[in-house]
Amino acid sequence: ASATQTLGFQAEVKQLLRLMIHSLYSHKEIFLRELISNASDALDKLRFEALAKPELTGGQNDFAITIETDNTAHTVTITDNGIGMTRQEAVEHLGTIAKSGTAEFLSKLSGDQKQDAQLIGQFGVGFYSSFIVADRVEVFSRRAGHPASDGVHWESRADGEFTVSNVELPERGTKIVLHLKEGEHEFADAFRIRSLVRKYSDHIAFPVRMRKSEQDAELETVNHAQALWTRPRTEVKDEEYKEFYRHVTHDFTDPLAWSHGKVEGKKEYTSLLYIPSRAPFDLWHRDASRGLKLYVRRVFIMDDAEQFLPLYLRFVKGIVDSADLPLNISREMLQQDPAIDAIRTGLARRTLDLLAKIAKDEPEKYATFWKEFGAVLKEGPAEDGTNRERIAKLLRFSSTHADSETQDVSLEDYVGRMKPGQTAIYYVIADSFGAAKSSPHLEVMRKKGIEVLLLSDRVDEWLTDHLHEFDGKRFANVARGELDLSAVESEDEKKAQESLAKEHADLVERIRKSLGDKVSDVRITHRLVESPACLVLGENDMGAQMRRILEAAGQ
Ligand code: ADP
Ligand code: MG
Repeated sequence: ASATQTLGFQAEVKQLLRLMIHSLYSHKEIFLRELISNASDALDKLRFEALAKPELTGGQNDFAITIETDNTAHTVTITDNGIGMTRQEAVEHLGTIAKSGTAEFLSKLSGDQKQDAQLIGQFGVGFYSSFIVADRVEVFSRRAGHPASDGVHWESRADGEFTVSNVELPERGTKIVLHLKEGEHEFADAFRIRSLVRKYSDHIAFPVRMRKSEQDAELETVNHAQALWTRPRTEVKDEEYKEFYRHVTHDFTDPLAWSHGKVEGKKEYTSLLYIPSRAPFDLWHRDASRGLKLYVRRVFIMDDAEQFLPLYLRFVKGIVDSADLPLNISREMLQQDPAIDAIRTGLARRTLDLLAKIAKDEPEKYATFWKEFGAVLKEGPAEDGTNRERIAKLLRFSSTHADSETQDVSLEDYVGRMKPGQTAIYYVIADSFGAAKSSPHLEVMRKKGIEVLLLSDRVDEWLTDHLHEFDGKRFANVARGELDLSAVESEDEKKAQESLAKEHADLVERIRKSLGDKVSDVRITHRLVESPACLVLGENDMGAQMRRILEAAGQ
C-alpha cells in the first residue's frame, strides 16, 4: 500500500469541519493549543510505552515539541518526537471521529455562531481545528519503533477528502504543516505564535521550543515546561489552572471550580480535580469516558482511570499523580488494588468538601453546578453510604415553599422551616414537576402549612429508597401508608376526624365492597381538602416511578 490513496472523510467529520470553520471563527487561535495538546499527548504515550519497551525511543529521550514559522511560505509547523502514527492510524485518527454520540451531538447544533461555539468547544474539536486557519494541512508521521520507510504523508484541503502515501522519515514522531489561508498570515509570525504558546500552552509538561530570533536558528524553550500540578498552589495562577483544564478535558468553557492538593503519609499522591461548568453532551451515555488522567511520579499512565472516583462523581475531571503505584500498573490491577480504594475515598471527600465550600460561599455558582450535575449527585446516597449525610447536605429540591421548579431548597432549609411537632421530612414523587405540584396528596399539607418536597427527577425514587433520614428526621412519602400528622394537629382537629370516621363508617364499608380486591383498603382521610378521593400506596409498595423503570427493563 505504498501508492497514494485518496479517501473520504467520515460524514461526521465533514459536518464538524463545516460547522467548526463557521462557528469558531472568533476563536481561531485555539488551533495551536489543540495541536500542542496532541503533541504533548503523543509524548506522554511514547514515554509510557517505553516503560515496557525502552528500545522504542532508540536512546533519543529528549522529548520536545518544536514550532517553526515561515513568513514567506505562510506556514506554521509543529513537530513532536512522540509516539507517531502508522499509515493505518493516520487514516483512522485523522479521518474519523471516534466519540460515540457524535452524530446526535452535531444534529443539536443550531447554526447560531455563539451558541454553537460553546457547544463545539465542549465537544472538543482537536486536530480538525487546524482548518480554521489553514486551507491545506500536511501531516508527516512515523510510529516509534518502525523503520524510516514506514513514514506516512497525510494531506487534506478540508474539501471532503484527504490523501495518504508512504514516505521516508528519518525521525520518529509527527510533523504538522499548516498552509495558512489568505487573511490568516499573522499566524506565520513568530512573535504572535510565541505569545500564544505562553498564553495557552505554558502548562504543557514538555518543552515547546522555537528559534531564538529570525537571525538566530538556535532553539529556546518558550513555555514553563513543568507539570502544573507539581508546582506549589500559591505559584499557579487561575488562568493557568483554567488552561490546564482545557488541556485535560478539551472543554474550552472555564471550569466552575477546582481543588489542587497533595496528600502525604502512607499513600502519597497529588490530585487536581475540576468541576466543569457544563454537563458534557454524553453525561448520560453509558459508554461515555469518565475518570481521571493517571500519572505515576509524573509519568502519564492512562486516560479515563475510572477507579479513582465513585460513579456519582463521574462529572469530575482532572489528574491524579501517585508516588507509590508501580509504573506498570494496568486497568485490571487498578480494580484489585486496595491502595486505590484509599485514594478514591480521599478524592471523593475532597470533591464533596469542595462542593460544600461552593454551596456555602458561592450559592449562585452552586446553583449552576446543581442545574448541570444535581441529578448525578442524587445517585450518591445509594452508592456511598459513608458519605450519605455529607451528600444529603448538598442536595437541592423543589418544594411547596416556593412552588418553583428550580431546585434550590436544601434539607437544612427544610428542617429550619419545620412546624413545631413535625417529625418527618415530607415529599411527593411524580413523573413531572407539574404533576408533583398538583398532587392531591398535597392538599392537607398545604392547608396545614407543612412544606413538602416536590420530586420528579428519574433518580428521585432511587434516592428516597436510600436516604432514610436527615438530621434525625425521617423521610415520609405523603402518598404512602397512614399519614400521621397527629403531632401537628390540635385536639379539636383530632376529635373532628374521629367523629367523621364514625359518621361515615357505612359509606366506607359500601365502597370497600364494591371495589373488592382492586384495593387493599378504603379509609376516611384528612389528606384531602378539595379532591373527593385519592389513591395511596401501601407502606411497602413499590412506587409508580420504580415500577415503570422495572417494567421498561422487562421485569
Ligand atoms: P483527541 O486529541 O481528543 O483524541 P484530536 O482530534 O485532537 O482528538 O486527535 C485525534 C487523534 O489523532 C488523537 O487521538 C491521536 O490518536 C492522533 N494524533 C493527533 N495528533 C497527533 C500527534 N501529534 N501524534 C500522534 N498522534 C496524533
Ligand atoms: Mg487533541
